[in-house]
Amino acid sequence: MFKKHLKKTDKMITGKNYIGNKLSGKGISSHKTINPKLNVENPTTFLEATTEEIEEAVSLATEAFKIYKNTSGKQRATFLNAIADEILALGDTLIEMYCLESGLPEGRAIGERGRTMFQLQSFAELISNEDWRGITIDRAMPDRQPLPKSDIRKTSIPLGPVVVFAASNFPLAFSTAGGDTASALAAGCPVIVKSHAMHSGTGELVASAIIKAAEKTGMPNGVFSNITGRGRTVGVALVKHPKVKAVGFTGSISGGRALFNLGTQRDEPIPVFAEMGSINPVVITPNAITARSEEIASTYAGSITLGTGQFCTNPGLILTVDSDKTQAFVADLAAKTVAIGAQCMLNPGIKSSFVENGNIVSSQEGVTVVGRVEGDIDANFASSQINAVSGTDFLANPKMHTEVFGPFSLVVKSKDEAELIDVINSLEGQLTGTLIAEKSDIQNLEGIVDALQSRVGRVIFNGVPTGVEVTGAMTHGGPYPASSDSRFTSVGIGAIKRWIRPFTYQDWPNELLPEGLKD
Ligand code: NAP
Repeated sequence: MFKKHLKKTDKMITGKNYIGNKLSGKGISSHKTINPKLNVENPTTFLEATTEEIEEAVSLATEAFKIYKNTSGKQRATFLNAIADEILALGDTLIEMYCLESGLPEGRAIGERGRTMFQLQSFAELISNEDWRGITIDRAMPDRQPLPKSDIRKTSIPLGPVVVFAASNFPLAFSTAGGDTASALAAGCPVIVKSHAMHSGTGELVASAIIKAAEKTGMPNGVFSNITGRGRTVGVALVKHPKVKAVGFTGSISGGRALFNLGTQRDEPIPVFAEMGSINPVVITPNAITARSEEIASTYAGSITLGTGQFCTNPGLILTVDSDKTQAFVADLAAKTVAIGAQCMLNPGIKSSFVENGNIVSSQEGVTVVGRVEGDIDANFASSQINAVSGTDFLANPKMHTEVFGPFSLVVKSKDEAELIDVINSLEGQLTGTLIAEKSDIQNLEGIVDALQSRVGRVIFNGVPTGVEVTGAMTHGGPYPASSDSRFTSVGIGAIKRWIRPFTYQDWPNELLPEGLKD
């Protein structure tokens, strides 16, 4: 499979930017992607977008917005469905490129492609009628005393050009045509993607599918651009550009925070919806450990190592009450995690952050490494690791809250439930909180549930936090730093709300009202 692919990419020597529907390559050589399994560079050299290309992409998006915002929901739905079809039509070429650039297995690539298409199709279905705009109509009351009441009608309108940063850990579902792009296009906003430097080839292929779909469905040139670069310059220029009206980001806390600050410090501040770090606390009650220690250890060894732990919902923190049974559980969890062995990470940068942050946490006073994959492992592979610490030591040292992005989990053994609740209250905002409990616990969980609710965006009962359904009821977000605005979700159809603003018509002639507001 890879041999065939290498032949193809050998011919495509330079990776370019889509400035609207034009493939453009004015910039200097920026970077190559890396095959993390073999630890070698892939052949294509990507050209960083120039200032001129960035300007052109934003100008085209601004012009396209004038037309695109007035397209009907049905027209945009046709466009989104066509993107899904064109992505599928890329066939094995896309799957091979994905695997080559990410080190992730073919099954994951196919699954993620399906999820990406489903997201596009879900937004297409959502906008097939106007209900998603949250329309409110308050009719006139001309005879109201002492003053007549006007006819007031509220809808939602798109913000304007949106910049989307592709995420390293989901080359398809949170990248070029991922949830941020699908929701912004659905809302009526043109999108400029800042491609991720470590999967720019996958990004370019998906971008070609979006451009094809835009042309086939008659969308204005500039409705979508895909630009690449490495070293912050391109991202900073895009977020600072006065014609950009909102930003979507998934990645590190430092990156998300820097872009959020840039967005708010502009002359015209704009919303930067950043989904960043989370260690996803999992509370396991003593009764659950007594009843099914081995089952929980197996399930969690699988969840901690799933996708080499490179999920924002990875269970990085397990909260328990200390006892002999808890100690046996931790030893079993460590053994089962280590038995899964070393797995490939997405790229050398993620591997070095994993090692660096893992060392920060495991070198803190009181932390014990209970189990770790040892021996000779390949350059970009991760040594999965389970650690333990007492509740008292954890409460005394915030460095232990550091996100270790990868297969790494810290078990906190509190002396009692009150200390466990203190531990939850000490945490920063999180995407998820999980509760593993028995039926007999249910009447006594109020304190834990209350503490979790104040810290997280989604609670899970007797399950695992990994695996985020794309559905209307999903919340994928949480108090800072899980996300920059806990009022919104970045997964599920609710994600569209990030790209719109309320707009009211007062006493407006019926003929001039948009669809959905007319009598
Ligand atoms: P990243 O460093 O945050 O970079 C993501 C994107 O943001 C890249 O396009 C990068 O541009 C841009 N960027 C970052 N900082 C910027 C800044 N100060 N100014 C302008 N642009 C900036 O994330 P990553 O490379 O994907 O992974 C690094 C670490 O992020 C991981 O080890 C992990 O800890 C964390 N991460 C977390 C999640 C999550 O969901 N919680 C997901 C992925 C990664 P350039 O390429 O130009 O630098």
